[in-house]
Amino acid sequence: MFYTIPDYYEEFRCIAGECEDTCCAGWQIVADEKSLEEYRQETGAYSAKLQQSVDWQNHTFRQDAEKRCAFLTEDNLCEMYQNLGADKLCRTCREYPRHTEEFEDVREISLSLSCPEAARLVLNKKEPVCFLTKERDGEEEFDGFDPFLYSKLTEGRQLIFEILQNRNLPMENRVILMLGLAFNMQTRVKGGHLFGCDEVFQKYRQQVHFSEAGRRAERWRRDFPRQMRFARKMFGNLRKLELLREDWERLLKETRVYLFGKGRRRYAQLTTDFRLWLYKDAPFDWNIVCEQLLVYYIYTYFCGAVYDEKIFVNAQMAAANVAVIWHLLAARWEKNEHTLDMEDVTEIVYRFSREVEHSEENLRIMWEMLEKEEKWFGTGRAR
Ligand code: SF4
Repeated sequence: MFYTIPDYYEEFRCIAGECEDTCCAGWQIVADEKSLEEYRQETGAYSAKLQQSVDWQNHTFRQDAEKRCAFLTEDNLCEMYQNLGADKLCRTCREYPRHTEEFEDVREISLSLSCPEAARLVLNKKEPVCFLTKERDGEEEFDGFDPFLYSKLTEGRQLIFEILQNRNLPMENRVILMLGLAFNMQTRVKGGHLFGCDEVFQKYRQQVHFSEAGRRAERWRRDFPRQMRFARKMFGNLRKLELLREDWERLLKETRVYLFGKGRRRYAQLTTDFRLWLYKDAPFDWNIVCEQLLVYYIYTYFCGAVYDEKIFVNAQMAAANVAVIWHLLAARWEKNEHTLDMEDVTEIVYRFSREVEHSEENLRIMWEMLEKEEKWFGTGRAR
């Protein structure tokens, strides 16, 4: 079995009570069978609390009216951990924020951006991320798993990493190239020509599409009405998502007012000023932050297309997520009277990730919306 992790993975440390948020509120924590059995058999002084605080029917931990886990203390520490030790935590609590994507004989592990400390680690990394793979004993066969498609997806993903980490190219060009490559792979796979992907890879390695991507990026940069239509649509969709935290709705509302409340001209002015500030005066390098976000989304989701062949939409999702984060930051910048720091970026990123990445239903709504928007960025027409 092969295990892959990003190179910053081992640096992660949970800061528990020092954390500005908690991962034990807002969403349902589902406990695994083995842990539930141990809780059932617990006979010590803590057993009464366990009996009351576990929802045995739904295999979850009960929550209070503010959706805080029944085991969470007022100072945001875990009472179960304090009384029974780390070994007794259920698998969800032991593993979070580690996230595992499962493939035949391969496990790809990431740190979820929904944890502020993990987000801080990812977003503050200056060098391009590399991925480390180790082999350990064990094999596993998955019914219906297509190893050939998986192999093409990993090859395509590696090429996307190289494009996204090509710091000689403007960021918009890298995004257009990522989308174009994914779109071309999708067309070959849909048409039953999986090995046609090799020709696509060759063209992108030889940089055949690089100048066309530059022209498309330039058209996109200048087309404010189109950017605004797309942003409005994305923010309209975000309103339809299952709400995990009440304060998220407030943030969305506030963002819509700042961005769209005064019409198209104001949107164009605000986003132009924000873009200028980001590249000239920001106390952080937005291109690097953006690169790390895109690499994170592609690493985590792209190869999942082996199960549904939805290659292009996974690349679209990466670009759309970054576009939404960018707009949330633009509104925050306006609210802060034209300033932002990395803590604002971290906060926006982890809150966005909590709402979108931890709900299957929310991910499905986002995917469906993006599938209907195939021509976004003009990429749908790429060869
Ligand atoms: S959100 Fe992250 S840092 Fe905060 S308590 Fe949870 S795991 Fe620890």
